Amino acid sequence: MNKYQSTYLNSSIEYLKGVGPARADILKKELNVFTIGDLLFIYPFRYVDKTQFHLIKDISDDGEVVQIKGKLISYELIKGKKQKRLSALLKGSSGFIELVWFRGVKWMADALKEGADYVVFGRVNIYAGKKSIPHPEIELLAEANAKKPKKLDAVYHSTEKLNARGLESKARRKLVRNIFEKISERDLPENLPDYLRTKIKLCPRLQALQWIHFPENAQQQQAAEDRIKFEELFYLQMRLIRSNKLRKQIIKGPAFSQIGEYFNRFYKEKLPFELTGAQKRVLKEIRADLGKGVQMNRLLQGDVGSGKTMVGLLSMLIAKDNNYQSAMMAPTEILAQQHYQSLQEYLEGLNIRVAFLSGSVKGKKRKVLLESLKNGEIDILVGTHALIENPVIFKNLGLAIIDEQHRFGVAQRSKLYLKNDRVTPHILVMTATPIPRTLAMTYYGDLDVSVIDEMPPGRKEIKTVHKRENYRPKLWEFMKSEIAKGRQIYIVYPLIEESAKLDLQNLTDGYEQLLGFFTRPTYQMSVLHGRMKPADKDAEMERFVQGKTQIMVATTVIEVGVNVPNASVMIIENTERFGLSQLHQLRGRVGRGAEQSFCILMSSNKLSKEGRERIATMVRTNNGFEIAEADLRLRGAGDIMGTRQSGSVDFNLVNLVTDTQILEVARDLAIKILDKDPQLQQEFNKNIKHHILHLNRVRKDWAMIS
Ligand code: ADP
Ligand code: MG
Repeated sequence: MNKYQSTYLNSSIEYLKGVGPARADILKKELNVFTIGDLLFIYPFRYVDKTQFHLIKDISDDGEVVQIKGKLISYELIKGKKQKRLSALLKGSSGFIELVWFRGVKWMADALKEGADYVVFGRVNIYAGKKSIPHPEIELLAEANAKKPKKLDAVYHSTEKLNARGLESKARRKLVRNIFEKISERDLPENLPDYLRTKIKLCPRLQALQWIHFPENAQQQQAAEDRIKFEELFYLQMRLIRSNKLRKQIIKGPAFSQIGEYFNRFYKEKLPFELTGAQKRVLKEIRADLGKGVQMNRLLQGDVGSGKTMVGLLSMLIAKDNNYQSAMMAPTEILAQQHYQSLQEYLEGLNIRVAFLSGSVKGKKRKVLLESLKNGEIDILVGTHALIENPVIFKNLGLAIIDEQHRFGVAQRSKLYLKNDRVTPHILVMTATPIPRTLAMTYYGDLDVSVIDEMPPGRKEIKTVHKRENYRPKLWEFMKSEIAKGRQIYIVYPLIEESAKLDLQNLTDGYEQLLGFFTRPTYQMSVLHGRMKPADKDAEMERFVQGKTQIMVATTVIEVGVNVPNASVMIIENTERFGLSQLHQLRGRVGRGAEQSFCILMSSNKLSKEGRERIATMVRTNNGFEIAEADLRLRGAGDIMGTRQSGSVDFNLVNLVTDTQILEVARDLAIKILDKDPQLQQEFNKNIKHHILHLNRVRKDWAMIS
């Protein structure tokens, strides 16, 4: 496999000076290092600064790693109960510190020279105010001075097996040094054009690699990091943007060339409100896509309640105007039902046939439905993932809308592509879980993204507060006063798989406590949790939707999509156990009507720092994008996107939380370069072209292996 453009870097790690078969084996197993190049591209995760000396008097933290200079005053072997130890006293310019050894005691005692000046490096142990350094690295000052220059020492991730084989950081640095003795720019050709490097002040490639492993100072280390991060992000963006452009060249979509009767009549006569500016803008973006004859792949992000459904509906009317069918897919039966009902209401009197399909539609009914779908008697099919299954055949599917994207995988999306064998249907993916810009640019960088960043007018901000157990009596009073005004209330308990039993117990206890206070027949309550039969769940939900019950006690099964405009209070129990995006989704269940809504976050008194920050974020803002950004900072990109998507994005050094700016610059430049020179034919872009060709070759190699 030729992963690198260099015979030397492609050769087996075993042949690197200092490795050999046994160590090669460990490196393969522990670090996936097969070739010499692989080792070169494992970067340090931190550095030890050996350019600085600490003063003994300044040392204050247990566990601090320090380097100090001092004179060895004395040392003695001390017999403890179990073992001997060697204790030495070092005098610095500002105090004393003890050095201790428990292993290799005798050898060390022979080596130490009383009265000599030493450089000592190690982790400080502070016990009862007394400072010591167990097993320090120690070197005569004279020898250390002779070894200039001082530098930052790279520290690599290690494992016990690596350490046992003498492959800890110090040894690894030596191996990497051996690589640098053998390579030149021929092995690692510059892959960014000069004009680009000059423009954003990036150091050359080989230089960056040298400095990332062996920086002499912080500036070099920073320069190396900047350059390598830029390169990672730039080539990822190049790939995403090129594949988006390419897809548009290759994949034809139905051309919805006209806006006709259905759209216009609905818009003029039926639309119950004026669209917000954001809805109009997004609709324009979608319309432009639909008319081009190129398949649309668009992600529509908009906070809960921002009015995505209407945008979806208007798009489906354009499909109808061009004699195409549409599908709208939702992740749960309840949500799909709600879409079905609201679409039917909106479209009443327009002679558009809407049908519903889920696993629960069976027998004759299903047969008839599938038949009329195939005949083209159905214009819009709403349903769960049941509608991407094989027996579902459309006459002429032109547009598929997926609501709540995060529950659908890429594989399911591509099943939709196949639902029309003449032309690939347009895809509109709608999500209410805003994805931070950096993640959208990285994980969905090959999709087009629209954002509804404005709420319909007249919405009152949901008032959010954080309360603890002692507030409970007041909480009940508050609930009663809201119910007296005719409002409905959700109370949500966490549900985590591992502790499902305990969670159910919490919910049941809470419910029983409420029963004593909210007595029938004045008060009616619904209960909803995952252990109930689907039919019972639906019945309970239905009672609440119809206003027959005022309080809904539930687990997170109500998280997605349900719409009860009369519900104005969301109480969340054990808030600290919910993730931010889940809390935001839950809060979005209220504030859907005209009334002032409230979200009360109940928590225990003891909160972790992260738990506290999550709750504080919820109290501070209602803005889904801000919440998503906070979530990204707290959890990191990997946890948010999950393993499903992270396979395609593989960073060595980049951190999507902190490297936003580099990402923006890299994407911007990639777009500009590809706009001006789509085929990368210009002489000044030849480095980029060569590198992409190389990357493509590598990826093909990988494909053949797997
Ligand atoms: P979401 O983006 O969460 O799917 P919905 O499409 O369910 O939001 O819309 C939420 C509510 O706002 C619905 O009751 C819908 O009728 C209403 N709505 C949507 N757009 C507007 C608008 N421009 N003006 C007023 N109300 C609107
Ligand atoms: Mg919705």
